[in-house]
Amino acid sequence: MSGFATKSIHAKFLKKDAHNALHMPVYDSVAFAADTAEELEASFRGHKLAHTYSRISNPTVEHFEQKIKNFSGARGVTAVSSGMAALTALFLAIAGQGDNIVTTRHIFGNTYSLFSATLKQWGLETVYTDLTDLRQTENAVNEKTRAIFLETITNPQLEVADVAGLAKIAQKKKILLIADTTLTPPYLFDAKKFGVHLEILSSTKYISGGATSLGGLILDYGAYDYRNNPHLAKQAAKFGPYALLQVLKTRVCRDLGNILSPHNAYLQSLGLETLVLRAQLSCANTLKLAEFLRTRPQARQVNYPGLPDAPSFALAQKQFPHGAGALLTFELSSREKCFQFLNRLRLIRRATNLNDNKTLIIHPASTIFSEYSAEQKAAMGVPETLIRLAAGIEDLADLQEDLQQALEAA
Ligand SMILES: *Cc1c(COP(=O)(O)O)cnc(C)c1O
Repeated sequence: MSGFATKSIHAKFLKKDAHNALHMPVYDSVAFAADTAEELEASFRGHKLAHTYSRISNPTVEHFEQKIKNFSGARGVTAVSSGMAALTALFLAIAGQGDNIVTTRHIFGNTYSLFSATLKQWGLETVYTDLTDLRQTENAVNEKTRAIFLETITNPQLEVADVAGLAKIAQKKKILLIADTTLTPPYLFDAKKFGVHLEILSSTKYISGGATSLGGLILDYGAYDYRNNPHLAKQAAKFGPYALLQVLKTRVCRDLGNILSPHNAYLQSLGLETLVLRAQLSCANTLKLAEFLRTRPQARQVNYPGLPDAPSFALAQKQFPHGAGALLTFELSSREKCFQFLNRLRLIRRATNLNDNKTLIIHPASTIFSEYSAEQKAAMGVPETLIRLAAGIEDLADLQEDLQQALEAA
């Protein structure tokens, strides 16, 4: 099995199903019994692989992890309750007080808050740099840096960094390269090929199959030597490339309780099966909508990494050969014009989220970034005139018609 569409649909069950079900059933059970006290002891000690309690592991969640592993080619996968839960668990596992993570301010607003407030309170520092500038990024790394963290396409700035270039720096400095690939999941981006050690995904987006449920994933490609990380060196001696997965499963996620519910794992397994189709349609729609918006006099600064004159076009072609994601942005002349325009849309829905089957639109400065000051928003690349459109899979002509009538009225 090698094609992405095939791999997204066919995955073996780890255990034969009693009824030969074609979908892994939803195991909505908190606990799983053992036949003997000895077997239960063996499970707790990790000598026997069996489910004991659904906060630790669950058959439906495990099957979803297997499907993602098979689909992505990762060495191992941990599924959790949301994208933010994945980021939180990962940074708590790989870094601690006095350490730092090198990243950019041009990232998802809640991730910025996780770094600048929540994790900072526990002594983990963030060094902000320009990840599109490799020399500046290399200079930002010091002996306390545990990872470089990037988003493959930043949300909503739509910046694209040279991932292979960042991988060289990470390799030289013996630190982790972590990519949030929410906008470009496996199929759209081959993380392993570009030297990413760990991939983080909000499976809420593309994978859930149309915004059905929250979920998050941590994918480990097995290429990092965890002896180089002081928080994982001990486990590395015992578990080698599985050190992080082991720590996540047996301690961090167990202690945080940030588990994916079996029902959501079921929905996301189902969602994965149509990912390739939906990604193809929504990426194609986004490119066409970007081209269309460029012909409208009201829309300025239309940005989409798939547009040939976008600053990130060459990198996007190299890194995302099947499509540069389904987010585009453009600007209107003022915040008032943005609100007028949004209020006149009839088909396109005013909502946060992306990679829904429905096309969604939002004014980031007054919503996702509303907690930040004007100066902070400017530093984060979110002007008051910016509109973010997350394309769905509707008929292109209907989307164009809706944008056209709302732009004219505004
Ligand atoms: C949505 C999103 C997240 C957070 O994911 P949730 O599932 O909503 O917690 C993280 N990173 C990016 C780039 C996102 O778009």
